[in-house]
Amino acid sequence: MPELPEVEQVRRILMRTVGLTITEVSVLDEGILDVSPSKLSRALCDRTVMDIKRHGKQLAVVLDDGSVLAMHLGMTGDVVISDQQDQARHVRLVIRFDSGVYLSFIDQRKFGVVGIAPSFDDLILEKGLGPDALEIGPRKFEARVGDHHRAIKTTLLDQKVLAGVGNLYSDEMLFQCRINPKVKADSITPRKMKCLHRAMMDILVRSIEERTDFERLPNNYLLHGRVKDGRCPRCASQWTIEDINGRTAFYCPKCQRILQ
Ligand SMILES: [Zn+2]
Repeated sequence: MPELPEVEQVRRILMRTVGLTITEVSVLDEGILDVSPSKLSRALCDRTVMDIKRHGKQLAVVLDDGSVLAMHLGMTGDVVISDQQDQARHVRLVIRFDSGVYLSFIDQRKFGVVGIAPSFDDLILEKGLGPDALEIGPRKFEARVGDHHRAIKTTLLDQKVLAGVGNLYSDEMLFQCRINPKVKADSITPRKMKCLHRAMMDILVRSIEERTDFERLPNNYLLHGRVKDGRCPRCASQWTIEDINGRTAFYCPKCQRILQ
């Protein structure tokens, strides 16, 4: 599932449409829309793209009247910009621009969502998103995350607490700071909270720099070998793989022990 770095990659691809005017909107599958096709078309046609913004995993194409085309990639969503209409399977929406360029929204499993909002701020409010993971400072991070009496893994994944971190990067953060994913968020010490915040920034920035190619991440990262039978790069223990409130966590049974 795309997390903040993957969505940031898509944002950069979408930047190619800045300055272009939308001439046609073709909805191939209404299942991904949270607005009617006719309303979407009316909102977009003849509008010029001014900017592409991202908040957590939420993307927004900002139009010249301040309104936004909202895109969430869900589990398998992706965007292709090309000079020809994309013939790939699973294309759900095609937007044509005055330059002849096409934007195709592709989504195999259809958990992605495309809609419109009056403004970028309205969109964030409407979705109830917490601060963006790359924008939040260490104090605010500790205050927000440490305010929950539930597993730290679950808390980090809650987009209302913090927007952008998903299943994979939360595993990495917890591994880097030697925190067991089942530990209650409100029991984590300030020192460990600072570690988590720093690890989050490092990991997200690093992944964006490496274009989310996990092979290029440092060797001491869990994400290198986050596979069944994979081993901890520190102590070579086999990962414990566990369901925590519906999400699969990978962690090292030795390095991430629950401290008594
Ligand atoms: Zn270990």
